[in-house]
Amino acid sequence: MAVQPIRLFGDPILRTPAQEVVDFDKELRKLVADLTETMRDAPGSGLAAPQIGVSLRVFTWWVDDELGHLCNPSLDLSEETQDGEEGCLSIPDLAFDTRRARRVVAKGFDMHGEPVTIEGSDLLARAIQHETDHLDGVLFIDRLDAATRKEAMKAIREAEWFGEPAPTVKVSPHSISAKWL
Ligand code: ZN
Repeated sequence: MAVQPIRLFGDPILRTPAQEVVDFDKELRKLVADLTETMRDAPGSGLAAPQIGVSLRVFTWWVDDELGHLCNPSLDLSEETQDGEEGCLSIPDLAFDTRRARRVVAKGFDMHGEPVTIEGSDLLARAIQHETDHLDGVLFIDRLDAATRKEAMKAIREAEWFGEPAPTVKVSPHSISAKWL
């Protein structure tokens, strides 16, 4: 296992829809291990493969001290929503109130290719939605209303990490907080 550099906003891989996992092999298990290690090191509550430069439909989460991963997710969202602060490890130091579904049922596969169903609410539901968005090339700032998104883009352009060549940027460690995904 190894901590990988986290790709930052501006890296085209974050805007590229990721490919379905087809081979549930040793390489995939190494990817899940690297994602888990990198997420815990950040620390974050979730991390998707494109964030470490791998365009595959895989993500991990670390919520309420439980670690998990999911490949090829498909989501069923509750109509009830939640509002809360959300941030992204690929957009360091910026967090905004983001509306998400309160509960989610996520179907997919584990790293051995076994079908799994994950049911989550609150932060786990938020993490699963945020990470699944990453697999579609969608970032949480896309979910903000127009005025907040404009504010976010301004803050990103002014951020000292923005425009630096990834992955040589050393991102300062985040405080331990649940909202980094
Ligand atoms: Zn993110």
